[in-house]
Amino acid sequence: MPDDEESCLFCGIVRGDVPSDKVVETDQVLAFRDIDPKAPTHILVIPKGPYVSWDDFSERASDGEIAGFVRAVGKIARDLGLVGAGYRLLANVGVNAGQEVPHLHAHIFGGRPLGPMLAREGRPSAD
Ligand code: 5GP
Repeated sequence: MPDDEESCLFCGIVRGDVPSDKVVETDQVLAFRDIDPKAPTHILVIPKGPYVSWDDFSERASDGEIAGFVRAVGKIARDLGLVGAGYRLLANVGVNAGQEVPHLHAHIFGGRPLGPMLAREGRPSAD
């Protein structure tokens, strides 16, 4: 389902109506620094098209958009020097993942050891 371009926060960033600390911009992709960084490097990479999530993007986007997005994420991490020490990619989808902004964004985290993949507190017990 497409997001609502009028009200979508990240669509406002794409249009330039909402300020952002841009890292990279191409025809299809925008990358900017997260307003509330969870690591020394915390970048959000978004397609400019109106896709609400990874699920929506993987279903509706063209092969060119998907290739452009995947290549952009990898190049941004390389250009920021994150590959040697390592980095993490994350895309939250929907309620259980805690997705706050309904426009696909890949988080790139780096700059320090990032700990376990998921927070341990709140995990359902295996018992
Ligand atoms: P989600 O929880 O949807 O995966 O992540 C949303 C991210 O967007 C959060 O890390 C949050 O800090 C970031 N964010 C929310 N509003 C803004 C904003 O106006 N500008 C920027 N740069 N980041 C934002």
